[in-house]
Order: sequence, then C-alpha cells, then structure tokens
Amino acid sequence: MELQAFLSRRVVTPEGLRPAAVLVDGERIRAVVGRGDVPTNALKQDFGEAALLPALVDSHVHINEPGRTEWEGFRTATLAAAAGGYTMLVDMPLNCVPATTNVAALQAKRGAAQGQCRVDWAAWGGVVPDNPAEIEALASAGVRGFKCFLVHPGIDEFSMVREPDLRMALPHVARTGLPLLVHAELPGPVDAATERLRGADWSRYTTYLQSRPDEAELAAIRFMLSLCREYGFRLHIVHLATSLALEELQSARVAGMPVSVETCPHYLHLEAETIADGATFCKCAPPVRERANREQLWQGLRDGVIDLVVTDHSPCPPAMKRLEEKSFRTAWGGIASLSIALPVMWTEAHRRGFTLMDIARWMSQEPARLAGCDARKGQIAAGYDADLVVFDPEAEFTVSADRLHHRHPVSPYLGERLRGVVKKTYLRGTAVFDDGRFPGEASGREFHP
Ligand SMILES: [Zn+2]
Repeated sequence: MELQAFLSRRVVTPEGLRPAAVLVDGERIRAVVGRGDVPTNALKQDFGEAALLPALVDSHVHINEPGRTEWEGFRTATLAAAAGGYTMLVDMPLNCVPATTNVAALQAKRGAAQGQCRVDWAAWGGVVPDNPAEIEALASAGVRGFKCFLVHPGIDEFSMVREPDLRMALPHVARTGLPLLVHAELPGPVDAATERLRGADWSRYTTYLQSRPDEAELAAIRFMLSLCREYGFRLHIVHLATSLALEELQSARVAGMPVSVETCPHYLHLEAETIADGATFCKCAPPVRERANREQLWQGLRDGVIDLVVTDHSPCPPAMKRLEEKSFRTAWGGIASLSIALPVMWTEAHRRGFTLMDIARWMSQEPARLAGCDARKGQIAAGYDADLVVFDPEAEFTVSADRLHHRHPVSPYLGERLRGVVKKTYLRGTAVFDDGRFPGEASGREFHP
C-alpha cells in the first residue's frame, strides 16, 4: 500500500490542536509531521479547515447479535458507527442470545460478527450469579473486561447480581486485572418508588423519572465503592445519570481508588423538563434527569470526575417503544445514537467552551483506555492504527432518519439542528464512510492487542 498523507489545519494530536500532516503507512500512522514535510511519494489528501480527530471508540454498545438481530446487529450497528466517526465498538454481553457469560457464547458472537463489520469491535463478558468459574476463562479468551447489573436488566437471559454473587465473582475479576463495568442502580429504591406510584399516569415522563430516583444510583455507587475498597478490582460506573454521586466518586479517586466513570450524550443533552409526556423514545435507565443535574454532569466532566462519554447505543424494534400506547412503564428503555453522538456532544460542548481536544479525550482516548486498546486506538500518534475522522466543526445539519443507519431509525434527536458534520471516517487507513456513502467491503475485525 502506498504511503498516504492526510493534511488538515486542525489536527487533534496528544500535544494539541495544530496544522499537521498524518503519514499513514498501510494500516498504521507512521508519523505526524508539519504540512510542509510530506514526502514526495505520498498520496496527499488535504482536508483544509476540516478537523482531523482520532476516530471515536465506543465502549458501551448493545449490538444484540446473535439472537436479537431484529433489534440491531453487527452490520447495521457498524454502519451507524462508521457514519458517526467511530471505528471501534465494545459490545455489551446482554440482549444478545446467548448472553456473553461463557467462552462458548463468546465464540458464537465471533461467528455472528464474521464478515459483517464496517469497524473494529471487541466484547465485554458478563458477570452473573452462576458464572464465577467462567470469569478467568473469558479473560483468557479475549474479553476486554466485565459487566454486571445490580438491578433487573429488562431481559431474562442475563441475571442481576446481589452481594453474595459479587463476593463469589470479585476475587476472579480482580485476578484478571480487567475492569468491572457496573449498572449502578439498586432495586430497593426503585421498587419502593414504583410502589408509591401505584395508580400514577405512566404516559407522563415525571412518573417514570420518579420511579428511578437518584437514591437508587447513589446507594448502588456507595455499595460498589465499598466492595472496590475490599477487593481491589477496577471499578467502572456506566452511564452515570445523577450528579449527586460526583462528590463521593471524586473522593474515591483522590484516595487513589481504581474507579472510572462514564456518562452518555443523552444525559448531557436532554432534560426532564422538556421531555413530552408519551415521548417513550426518550426512555432509558437510569433516566434523563433535570436541567440543573445535567449542568452538574458537565461540571463533572470539567473537573475530570467523569472520564468518558459513550453512547449506550441500545435500539429495539419500534413496537417495543410503545409509541402508540405511550407507556413509560412498558416501553423498552434504550437510546441509539452511534451515528450522531459526535455532533450531539459537539453542539453541547462547544457552547460551554470545551474544545475538540476534550471531545477526543472523552470519546476516543479514555474509552480506548477502559477497553485496554489504548496502545493502538484513541490517538493520532506514531504507531497507532490510522483510525481517523474528518469533522467539520462549523457545519450544521438537521437530524433525519436517513442519517441514522441503525436498524430502526427511532431517535429522540430526529428533527434537531446540530453543529458539526462527520465528513469521512478511516479505519486503519481505509475510508469506511465518505459523505453518506460506505465505500469498500466490511473490513472491520475483532480487536486483539
Ligand atoms: Zn447499556
């Protein structure tokens, strides 16, 4: 393969945003040099004022295949990813059937992914009550870490864990050195709140919000921090929605505990006050909370308590959103945003004074670190995979169904005017998205360090 040179006046490098040329040799970045220092034999592409970012890494995606391909799948999820500037997805162990809780299930997932992927991927393994003996085998087989639920996950093939289950599992998790990703809501406060809402109107968003109070998250996070102190495993809190936990998470980090935290674009963009009654496409768990809470989550990012932003892309067939029945009780919870998470985040981040450097850290570098692929993904630097996104940070567009590319174009963002357009995405040196088209073959593969 020829030497390629990608030029831009705004390249997001570890040292800062600067005019540069990225020299790509085969699948890897050979060097980042001055715009005037491109070797004459290189095939040049100059993107001018469009920014060049490290392609995004999403460590929280529900691809749902095998088993629930009618919800989503490797083909459609990775198309949406490529269109959104992502080149690496890490798939959650649930909603697929079988759930990824043993090595045979991981192999089934590998079989399902074969030949379908437009971007690279890897898998998280599940921690459930009956699989402590599988944990270290899953680690050896290549999962990037583990995921567990402290509350019912909404489907039956993946069981939540209680304290005795965790005490069986955590010594194994700790031995692997891999992170444990935790859905941090405890059933107690959710059940009590739901009981109080008996007879309430479930078409109203406030009913749903009240059914999953801040305390459910807060208690779960305290519980996990105490286990983290005891067992010394790497704890990662997924989709933090309550800002009330930020102070304790900050203290844990100051104390040197191995804790990391993520939130999602919808918690940073939507607000409970403006979610219409019946708008079940906005349902997710934990729920989107009020505006003031959202601003505190932004402060959490500013303070570095929240490390990363991932989509929690979790689509389902439209009928399961109960859009006609308008019931927040029975609707499936999950928001799919792989194809537009970057503009959603840039729209919000830009108006708060953040930069493309911040975006690259939250959405590429830190998710890559969590998933243990940070020696090859997440930076524009020599030796890294040539995973790049060409992004016009000044352009605007209106979200329409034809831009979403996941299997069912249901989205709370439809019709919104957003800032920033993904122009091109490169996976290991080859364009996988180009202004609305998907050139080439499905060249994505499982990530192996
Ligand atoms: Zn999830």
